[in-house]
Amino acid sequence: MSAADHDVIVVGAGPTGLLIAAELTRRGLDVAVFERRATAGGGSRAIGVHAPVLAALEASGATERILAEAVRIPLGLARTRERVLGEVHFDRLPLRFPFVATVPQAATEAAVGAGGPPPSRGVHVEALVDEGDRVRVMGPAGAPAASLVVVAAGSGGRSLATLSRDMAVHTYRDRYLMADVADAGADVPADVAVVHLDAGGVLESFPLPRGGRRLVAWDRFTARGETMSGGWLSDDLGDVARLQEAVARRTGDEGMAAAIDRVSAFGVRRAVANRMRADRVFVIGDAAHEVSPIGGQGMNLGLLDAAKLAPLLATWVRSGSAPEHELARWERARIRSARTAARLAGLNTSLGRSRGDLTHRAAMRFLSLALAGPFAAVPARAYAMGLDRDA
Ligand SMILES: Cc1cc2nc3c(=O)[nH]c(=O)nc-3n(C[C@H](O)[C@H](O)[C@H](O)COP(=O)(O)OP(=O)(O)OC[C@H]3O[C@@H](n4cnc5c(N)ncnc54)[C@H](O)[C@@H]3O)c2cc1C
Repeated sequence: MSAADHDVIVVGAGPTGLLIAAELTRRGLDVAVFERRATAGGGSRAIGVHAPVLAALEASGATERILAEAVRIPLGLARTRERVLGEVHFDRLPLRFPFVATVPQAATEAAVGAGGPPPSRGVHVEALVDEGDRVRVMGPAGAPAASLVVVAAGSGGRSLATLSRDMAVHTYRDRYLMADVADAGADVPADVAVVHLDAGGVLESFPLPRGGRRLVAWDRFTARGETMSGGWLSDDLGDVARLQEAVARRTGDEGMAAAIDRVSAFGVRRAVANRMRADRVFVIGDAAHEVSPIGGQGMNLGLLDAAKLAPLLATWVRSGSAPEHELARWERARIRSARTAARLAGLNTSLGRSRGDLTHRAAMRFLSLALAGPFAAVPARAYAMGLDRDA
């Protein structure tokens, strides 16, 4: 392998980039991370960390750090305002970590990035230039080169790599409102997740560390031409009032509704790349696949991409030759897993939309049968990422 400035350059210091940088450093590689944002953080997005990720991160110590901060959720309830439709028992799955761990995304990022190189912040990577035996990264001072480059730049950085540039992106017309509240909710155990299904749309309520709850409500269909993506803090007081109204109507919990004072709005997109590797350049996380947050697997998919790729890149750098067979297997497994997660998230998204009373009642009857029948463990396994190829 030729002289390059670094073994690996990682573009993007979101959860996926931070994890792969730390995992490669732990294996003795020289890694640099470039991040265009000047500061870390930027609001809470992902909160659920699933069993396969906890298992994959155990050796690095990241799992222990995540669990030290997290609430462990053994049970989810699906209900209407009137009755419980069914129970989703993560604690009955034959897993090493039979629960969903909820923790703010910033805490997950700190846990997975521990031991990795501090990112060079405020540095926008503009282009990657393939020089045959290395890749030059344009944007950072001195245009450093690395033997391998990992693009973990999220949906906003997709244009960096040819293989993710032309991905078909489907934009859903659903708009959601989200708030984190200190109120624990009336009559709900502190470690139980609840999905309230209402003809007006879904309301999800997830336990947060230190007693609060994350509330996510379907709001409305966006008008044609209205663009929605990512998640941002809304300064529209109408959004606060609409989320309060949705919480009160869908759960009957006026106290919880009154506790809402800040709201984020987000839209939903779906995109899965057909390739995640072009020779020495790898694309992982949201840069390679974006799934609806209604289903809570986007960050988890990216973390598994990183955890499973790191040992293969370390082998490549140490031996000087690419472990082609293992890399091809990795790429196939990650793309199939992303497609499965995207389909499940799409299903969750359509289940959570507003609908007419008659259709709603029929859907609820079907759901309560599905959650009570002989296949009742399937939703728990699917939600806990048990269908991921690397689970
Ligand atoms: C409202 C909401 C709720 C969610 N909830 C969940 C959940 O509960 N569970 C779950 O698993 N997922 C959830 N997700 C999805 C999750 O947040 C993302 O999948 C995850 O953040 C993707 O991580 P990433 O590292 O791939 O990309 P990102 O987090 O987008 O990080 C990419 C980084 O790259 C940087 N960057 C981009 N371009 C460049 C460039 N050219 N040069 C340098 N730096 C660059 C960006 O500034 C950014 O910091 C949610 C998403 C939203 C919007």
